[in-house]
Amino acid sequence: MASEKEAALEAVPSDGPTIFDKIIDKKIPSSVVYEDDQVLAFRDIAPQAPVHIVIIPKVKDGLTRLSKAEERHVEILGRLLYTAKIVAKQEGLENGFRVVINDGPDGCQSVYHLHLHVIGGRQMNWPPG
Ligand code: IMP
Repeated sequence: MASEKEAALEAVPSDGPTIFDKIIDKKIPSSVVYEDDQVLAFRDIAPQAPVHIVIIPKVKDGLTRLSKAEERHVEILGRLLYTAKIVAKQEGLENGFRVVINDGPDGCQSVYHLHLHVIGGRQMNWPPG
C-alpha cells in the first residue's frame, strides 16, 4: 500500500468525483461518527493516531482544496471547524487534539474534496513532517 505521501504525490488535483463522494452516497462503507445536513465525519481508513477522523462538506461546491475557497464558502468552513470541536468532544479528547488541512501536492493532499483531519489520543510533535 502506498504511503500517504506517495498517494499525495500521485494524486492529480481535479474537480472530479472522489472516494469521498462514494462515502457520502453510502456506496462504500465508512465508520461515521457525526453527520448533519451539511457535514459528514468518519474514521480515517489509515489512522495516524488513536483518534483520526476526517470531516467533509456533503456538497463540494468547488471546494476541492482550501486554496479554492471563496467568500461563499465562509459558512461551511466555519461549520467544518465547529464540527471538529464537536467530534473531539465526542471522542473524549479533553487534553487536546490537532486539526489539519492538507492543501495540494506540497501540503500532501491526496483526496481533492476539502476535508479536515481531527487527530488525537497521543502526544503530537511540532513541527509536523
Ligand atoms: P489528505 O491526504 O489530506 O488528502 O487526506 C485524505 C485522507 O483520506 C487520508 O488520511 C486517507 O487515509 C483517507 N481516506 C482515503 N480513503 C478513505 C476511505 O475510504 N475511508 C476513510 N478514509 C479514507
